[in-house]
This record gives sequence, structure tokens and C-alpha cells, in this order.
Amino acid sequence: MTLTDKLALDKFEVDEGEPHIIIDNAKCVTCHSKSCLHVCPAGLYSEQNGEITVEWAGCLECGTCKAVCGKKALDWQYPRGGFGIIYRQG
Ligand code: SF4
Repeated sequence: MTLTDKLALDKFEVDEGEPHIIIDNAKCVTCHSKSCLHVCPAGLYSEQNGEITVEWAGCLECGTCKAVCGKKALDWQYPRGGFGIIYRQG
């Protein structure tokens, strides 16, 4: 079973009313590496017209993006209780 196959088994309880990752793009404009675009294992970050966005509903809650952001541009919290990813393959 591939990693993609395993991820497809996971379930997400999306907290529509409260994103758990908020990006401060005012800080991103001075970032040259834009590491978040490259490190997310789920490929959730993208850049359009100079603005970074994240499809937080598919977040694996690994915390990698927060760890690598040198500009501290992410307000990253775990989803509220009862929301977020439910792993089914460890
Ligand atoms: Fe991607 Fe992990 Fe950040 Fe979620 S916590 S957006 S899976 S890098």
C-alpha cells in the first residue's frame, strides 16, 4: 500500500467555522525561501499572485510548516476537540 493509499483512508472532521492555520501574508512578502510551499507532506500550500494560501482542511497536523517558517507568519493551533484528522493507518 502506498503512502497516498494510506492517506486516502484517513478521515477529516473539518471545523468549517474555525481554521486552525492562519497565515500573516504581510510577513511572507519578506520571506525568500517560502519553505512552507515545499515541506508540507500533503502539499496544502500554494502561492498565487504573491500570496500564500493553505488548504487547512486537509492538514495532517504534523506541525512541519510551523517549525520551518522563519518569519513566524503562521498562527497554528491544533483543531478544536472533535475536529481534525482521524488516522486509520497509524
Ligand atoms: Fe501541511 Fe503538516 Fe503544516 Fe498540516 S501541519 S499544513 S500537513 S506541513
